[in-house]
Amino acid sequence: MSNLERPTVVQRCGDPATAGGTLQQFAGRKVMLGESSTVLRLLPNRRRSTAGAWCFADHFGPEEVDTGRGMWVPPHPHAGLQTVTWLIAGEVRHRDSLGTEQLIRPGQLNLMTAGRGVTHSEESPVPRSARLHGVQLWLALPRASADVEPSFEHLPALPRVPVGELGVTVLVGEIAGAASPARTYSPVVGAEVVAEAGAAGVLPLVAGFEHAVLAVDGLASVDGVDLAPGTLLYAGQGRTSMAISAAVDARLIVLGGRPLGEQFIMWWNFVAHSAEEIAAARADWERGHPRFGDVHGFDGDRLAAPPLPPGRLRPRG
Ligand code: MN
Repeated sequence: MSNLERPTVVQRCGDPATAGGTLQQFAGRKVMLGESSTVLRLLPNRRRSTAGAWCFADHFGPEEVDTGRGMWVPPHPHAGLQTVTWLIAGEVRHRDSLGTEQLIRPGQLNLMTAGRGVTHSEESPVPRSARLHGVQLWLALPRASADVEPSFEHLPALPRVPVGELGVTVLVGEIAGAASPARTYSPVVGAEVVAEAGAAGVLPLVAGFEHAVLAVDGLASVDGVDLAPGTLLYAGQGRTSMAISAAVDARLIVLGGRPLGEQFIMWWNFVAHSAEEIAAARADWERGHPRFGDVHGFDGDRLAAPPLPPGRLRPRG
């Protein structure tokens, strides 16, 4: 996905983790994606920019896409991050400048490592299911890996493990003894937790990680805190488990990771460690620099970069 928020906000990232496993709940906000659809942005939010290397979490749908174009995100660049796409319903066709064309369906993972630069498009295919529902998540690359070669992985099936009465699918990292083969660049975990009405279980966590939980369906309770769709629950470092229960069918995304311990900037579709890198990435995209490459087969023009905000872009700290 492309960050189409206007005006484009310079996000200073890398908040220190909270200690003692404290729980805090933050409201997401609606952001326009393309001409007509909105997504719910849960991370970054007003109070929190990161949980481990996770620096962006958009929840899209459920949305009826049987009329209109459905998802339509023309070619746009990324750098300094990995994009993680996970669907709950529907299909999305991904194309990128590495030559990849990949249809993703529920239960599958698309992981694109932008590294020094990549371009991709995402669109609803024809024909398609009536309903589209999913999440797109970004992982910031640590400074030492920010310029890795771009790559794309499609994982058609992921490890699943029962935790009490919960069904857990491991998207990235390792949880409850099951590990995803997805390549990441800092210690992280990402999992989908499905709870049928009345189900409960205690999810084991890595104490050195901080965590964020998104409710994407239904209403679940996490250590006694009700988590409704549209909110993000942040859990600070020091927590070794999370008791999850649901009175109605519910679906959660659990994200976690070791704090990167470094400050970075997120602007438009780039993560960088200095204002100069952000400005260079924007300029390179606008002049068609080969670091981003070209997407072939998309029926439309690529996105133009928004103007840089006035003043200096400065990382916090
Ligand atoms: Mn994108």
